[in-house]
Amino acid sequence: MIMKKILLLGSTGSIGINTLKVIRNFQGKFKIEALAINSRIDILEPQIEEFHPKYVVVKDEEAANRLKNKIGNKCKILAGKSGLVEIAAQLDYDIFIGAMVGFDGLAPTLEAVKRSKRIALANKETLVVAGELVTKLCKNFNSELIPIDSEHSAIYQCLIGESPESIEKLILTASGGPFRNKDKKLFEAITVEEALNHPNWKMGNKITIDSATLMNKGLEIIEAHWLFGIDSSKIEAVIHPQSIIHSMVQFIDGSVKAQLGLPDMKIPIQYALTYPDRLENNLDRIKFSNIGSLSFSEPDFEKFECLNLAYTAIKEGGTAPCILNAANEVAVDKFLNKKIKFTAIPALINRALEKIENHKSPSLETIYECDLQTRLFVSGLN
Ligand code: MG
Repeated sequence: MIMKKILLLGSTGSIGINTLKVIRNFQGKFKIEALAINSRIDILEPQIEEFHPKYVVVKDEEAANRLKNKIGNKCKILAGKSGLVEIAAQLDYDIFIGAMVGFDGLAPTLEAVKRSKRIALANKETLVVAGELVTKLCKNFNSELIPIDSEHSAIYQCLIGESPESIEKLILTASGGPFRNKDKKLFEAITVEEALNHPNWKMGNKITIDSATLMNKGLEIIEAHWLFGIDSSKIEAVIHPQSIIHSMVQFIDGSVKAQLGLPDMKIPIQYALTYPDRLENNLDRIKFSNIGSLSFSEPDFEKFECLNLAYTAIKEGGTAPCILNAANEVAVDKFLNKKIKFTAIPALINRALEKIENHKSPSLETIYECDLQTRLFVSGLN
């Protein structure tokens, strides 16, 4: 494998930090050309020391200025959302890693697609809000889209060597989050601390709440729809609390393929970087006799309304998934700041889906407008 140059968006988040761990293990195979973050310059500084990027981008202008004052000209510092787009459009790199949380990852991703780069995508919002546009552009510009999300990496691996016509359905596994066995009557009283306590995966706050509401699975169903071109009626979620099977594909002959592994994001991250090769690593291996048994059950749609809302949004199409995503981001933020109850998250999203007009086959401008309109609307609700 020749050395690959990397642009990493979101290096201070959970996926970003794991990506740097993977890269650290393969000296000489990858070179970090640029790192981009929102604002956590305290985490970024040691990354600059270790990986010597030519550029860093700090979205928060004030944090960018503080960094400039601290490190001088150790590397070039760009600021703001425009800095994210500029770096994706102009830097010399082979692989674009989209690991920024939320909607800001979209514009730089599109720049990378237009330059026919490999897109290793962890930012699910990109496909949720603009899946139609992104997948069309990827085809036009011959840009490889390789998922980092563990479920989608699993499906991607299961589909190697298979023809699209032979797929009967995709089965996404879900841990079920911390409230799988909790009575729905008690959902109102769920605290932020309880919701942040995920049983299997250690992740950022936003995605941990999404896992507790099962919105994460809903977003992943939309993501799978666009990544694999499969109708949402053929995409199922199954609760699998051990998170050992990362997802499955059922074929028209009744055969099912699954991809398994310990719940460690470094595995799908490494795969997205090295595909189609596999490189040896020293990560922990599964010991099946220690796991004992794997269990499965149906998700409870009544309890986890967000999952239903996601199916509704993808069936409606157009800007409905954009509304769903924006409303969810604002609602989760409100919940994290203790302004609304856990049960208000789906309620707010539902109101946004009812209130805001849906536009079919949206352009990027329409998506931005819809995103903004939804955020303003949900910000005013409680
Ligand atoms: Mg996932």
